[in-house]
Amino acid sequence: MNIQRLDAELFCPRCRRETTHALEYAGDILLRVTCTECGATLRKPVDPTWLLSRDLLERLRSKPKRLQAEWQSTGALRFALTVPVRMTTKPFRLYREIKKNLARLSGADRR
Ligand SMILES: [Zn+2]
Repeated sequence: MNIQRLDAELFCPRCRRETTHALEYAGDILLRVTCTECGATLRKPVDPTWLLSRDLLERLRSKPKRLQAEWQSTGALRFALTVPVRMTTKPFRLYREIKKNLARLSGADRR
């Protein structure tokens, strides 16, 4: 899941003036809006496990199509040589990705 951050000038009720706010998105979902001056969060965060589940289900659903497209674009030999290796490392890569995304969604790595 790709989490993007955009900055925008918005009115902060705590600072009582316009300040820079960090808008964090996971795909098309607004996760939270945070004042960079006082740290006030203007929107409750979305449950990170729900977001990750939604993202994983979508990727699982689209996997057969993506594999088929890769087969057609790279050719059978290259596909047969690379896919088994990637399949063995996939659980570890997935674990690392989920761990990183949970940390980002919980705000553990925020500046
Ligand atoms: Zn503020």
